[in-house]
Amino acid sequence: MDTPTVFEQIIAGDIPSHMVYESDTISAFLDANPLAVGHTLVVPHEPYERLTNVPETTRIDLWTTVHELLPAIESAVEADATTVGVNDGNEAGQEVPHVHVHIIPRFEDDNGSPIHAVVNQRPDLDQSELETIAETIRSWPITPV
Ligand code: AMP
Repeated sequence: MDTPTVFEQIIAGDIPSHMVYESDTISAFLDANPLAVGHTLVVPHEPYERLTNVPETTRIDLWTTVHELLPAIESAVEADATTVGVNDGNEAGQEVPHVHVHIIPRFEDDNGSPIHAVVNQRPDLDQSELETIAETIRSWPITPV
């Protein structure tokens, strides 16, 4: 058996947390090193490492929970706005190899940045290069919703 992730240990009650929501498949708790008051992590109980590993029913539970919790968190901390994000994979900055969605309350005076700030070197692409990329993505067999 693999060593349980820190989030599995929290969900099992083996590590203390400030839990804000629990269902049969999803838990949400305050981030221990918050970027803002109310910074919350929404986590599937199963330790899927990447978003692509999360099966369909759990995906629905995960993102529905994000949608439901967002206004509750904004209201609780009187936030003006929210940044929602996932560091999906090592190169994206994922530290805990167990899928989690960050809900980060934002405030008018928080001196933060938009999600565009996560990358420093932007590619310089012309229309033809953009279309080639779009065409390649379109060729993937996406399951329609
Ligand atoms: P990421 O870089 O997206 O993998 O983020 C992992 C997050 O988990 C960080 O924001 C950490 O502060 C948070 N974290 C790590 N350990 C704990 C813990 N025991 N309780 C709550 N949050 C944690």
